[in-house]
Amino acid sequence: EAKQAGKNRWRFASADLNALHVPQANIEVQLRGALERGEFVMYYQPLVDMQTGTVVGFEALLRWVSPSLGLVSPAVFVPMAEAREMMGGIGRWVLRTALREAKTWRDGDLPDVGVSVNVSATQFETPDFVSDVRQALEDCDLNPACLTLELTESAVVANATTARVTLQELKALGVHIALDDFGMGFSSLGQLRGLPVNTLKIDRVFVQESHGDNAAFIQAIVTLGHSLGLSVVAEGIEDPQMLRQLRAQGCDIGQGFYVGRPLASGEAVRAVPALEQQVRIDFARMANPG
Ligand code: C2E
Ligand code: MG
Ligand code: MG
Ligand code: MG
Repeated sequence: EAKQAGKNRWRFASADLNALHVPQANIEVQLRGALERGEFVMYYQPLVDMQTGTVVGFEALLRWVSPSLGLVSPAVFVPMAEAREMMGGIGRWVLRTALREAKTWRDGDLPDVGVSVNVSATQFETPDFVSDVRQALEDCDLNPACLTLELTESAVVANATTARVTLQELKALGVHIALDDFGMGFSSLGQLRGLPVNTLKIDRVFVQESHGDNAAFIQAIVTLGHSLGLSVVAEGIEDPQMLRQLRAQGCDIGQGFYVGRPLASGEAVRAVPALEQQVRIDFARMANPG
């Protein structure tokens, strides 16, 4: 089950480790030392410009290849690693690995692509987080503007005063900030006011569930984002209809299995020309239906 489902495609042992009757304690024991044993890998999922179909970046997504448990989803182990204060070390590895890959893309066939890196709440709250980021960018010889840090609303709101200062420092450094899972965490829009962020990333829930009012939520987020001068990303695009709808609603950037699955770095880069071509065909069809 935890093996590959088709070429290049991992099937997770997953959010349902419970269903596999693997005790949490077992996972925890395995997780300790996983970094030192080299059991983490990064996958990269493309982000496309919804007007041009160009791949503008990749989101770095962490995977844990456990010898005994199989492929474990970050949805399972990141919260656990957070609670056990293991995300600091893992997060630093993620950042450096993703930036090193971004450097190879930009030095190669994709000179303009950026990379998006997810940052956990505790990692974001570490006092030396900003200097870690600055150092990693320097070591990789990368322009800070090609890095986007994805933070969840809850990570930002949890400690709003400190968060604001950290965000200002990151902005001064030239790094971009996206609010991930947007629409799922904020208790009040007031907490968003004046936050130095660049991008709102609409949570998959709004993109995928066919509730009548989801389209209204998406439209509201797009309008809010644009009126604040922010770009809006839609994640979880799984078919051409979703692509069409989100484009029509004015989303700036799209991401999802239909556009491109998360892949190992080399494969992700090699997949770019074909996926850009497909997205452009879809866009042309939308412009001239029938
Ligand atoms: P996220 O940042 O919201 O990432 C998007 C998740 O949606 C990814 O799951 C991605 O594989 C999945 N996804 C993308 N397109 C589609 C689609 O069309 N359909 C569906 N059903 N899913 C799609 P993944 O890789 O399992 O990551 C889950 C969460 O784990 C991420 O949510 C993020 O919060 C966290 N995460 C992943 N990598 C890292 C990391 O390096 N550090 C930290 N702190 N958290 C991470
Ligand atoms: Mg993310
Ligand atoms: Mg997200
Ligand atoms: Mg999400």
